[in-house]
Amino acid sequence: MPADGCVFCAIACGRAEASVVFEDERVIAFMDLRPVTPGHVLVIPKAHAEGLEDLREDVGARVWTVAHRLGRALRSSGLRCEGVNLFLADGEAAFQEVFHVHLHVFPRFQGDPFRIEADWRVCERRLLDGAAAAVRSGLAALDAPAR
Ligand SMILES: [Zn+2]
Repeated sequence: MPADGCVFCAIACGRAEASVVFEDERVIAFMDLRPVTPGHVLVIPKAHAEGLEDLREDVGARVWTVAHRLGRALRSSGLRCEGVNLFLADGEAAFQEVFHVHLHVFPRFQGDPFRIEADWRVCERRLLDGAAAAVRSGLAALDAPAR
């Protein structure tokens, strides 16, 4: 069901213009309007899902499979491609701007403009173990029967 005012739903059902590279019954892949590098593709589920929370796992797996193939395709596309990034932003704090889940696939090369600012220092084991426990409890919550 397309969501009102959602530009990616409009693309998925052919009501908005896009440069499509792949499409099947569940997903569609098209060129990002504001590419990080030439060849920047977005893979989206055709059915509206705002983010990971409401994306069905089987559809998410299909999105990944298509992105995997596109990442490989970029390397033999003739576009400059020394590496590939797959990038998904889930939520405003993660810099999601269009609230229809989308997986970015884009070529990388020496000197390209893409940057991620982060603190890459090695973390203490006790902090890693604490975070791991929190993530395990999050997984358990996913598997808990709904109340
Ligand atoms: Zn949508």
